[in-house]
Amino acid sequence: MLTVLLYANDKQLSQALKKEFIQKIKDQPIRLVEEKEQADYIITIGGDGTLLSAFHRFPQYLEYSQFIGIHTGHLGFYADWLANGIDQLIRGLVSGNRESVSYPLLTVDIKTTDKRSIRRLALNEFVLRSTAGTVVCDVYLDDFCFETFRGDGICISTPTGSTGLNKSLGGAVIHPKLDAMQMTEIASINNLIYRTLSSPVIVPQEESITLKPDSQSGNFILSLDNQSLSLENIESIRTQIAPQRIRFASLKHTHFWDRVASSFIGNHPSDSRELNR
Ligand code: NAP
Repeated sequence: MLTVLLYANDKQLSQALKKEFIQKIKDQPIRLVEEKEQADYIITIGGDGTLLSAFHRFPQYLEYSQFIGIHTGHLGFYADWLANGIDQLIRGLVSGNRESVSYPLLTVDIKTTDKRSIRRLALNEFVLRSTAGTVVCDVYLDDFCFETFRGDGICISTPTGSTGLNKSLGGAVIHPKLDAMQMTEIASINNLIYRTLSSPVIVPQEESITLKPDSQSGNFILSLDNQSLSLENIESIRTQIAPQRIRFASLKHTHFWDRVASSFIGNHPSDSRELNR
């Protein structure tokens, strides 16, 4: 029997949908499992943020489970099922179709001056900021010292994260079939003394980006998607496209560019042609 772990946010609509889902699978060959048991599918109910939270809550199931996101608002990037699609989703689950699509993740390796090592994964992006104002850090592309950055921070995103914070920072939207990461600057200082490239940089899977912050920058805030940690004594942060990937059940196909267009542009040109006829 296939197993499902349900993970809903606290919103009333999400909780109601969770109840509806449980009711509808009562007579189906689907067993709900608790968080401590791995499941064939991790189904999130909420938004893209809820799926990001589930990704960070269940790293131990990454290799085994396929994710499915139900959005209780508009269509999301990870949460690409809507409340009115629950019956179709359940039919897909019991059909035995286990096909999936996988997306790249980011490995973030943090080394502190007291020789501690912290390794984390990010689904959308990693962001370095400082609580004390300007971040000063050397940016290495592999072993090559590329520039010294001064500004509010640096964002390094995955292809699926490219439509999140990265896009608001002027980064390009990258198709998730490309195994690449993108670095964007957050308000860099550029004048006669300080200089950075000032445009997004896209790096292939086999290359890394390492940030070596100046210790004078004080306390740092390191964000991994919607999770944050605060660290003082950072020696280096090395990021690279991870060997692990996240898998999503492909029970229906939502074209990537369709999702980008409907999220950011609204009506397609073809729609307006239809309306003008
Ligand atoms: P949040 O309030 O949970 O999310 C901010 C918005 O970003 C929400 O509308 C969320 O969608 C959307 N989002 C999340 N991942 C996305 C993706 N891959 N593509 C397009 N939109 C996406 O904020 P948070 O907890 O601070 O951070 C969670 C994520 O939100 C971050 O990883 C970052 O990428 C994104 N974010 C974007 C901005 C910005 O664009 N200025 C600022 C902060 C954070 P749902 O409503 O479906 O959850």
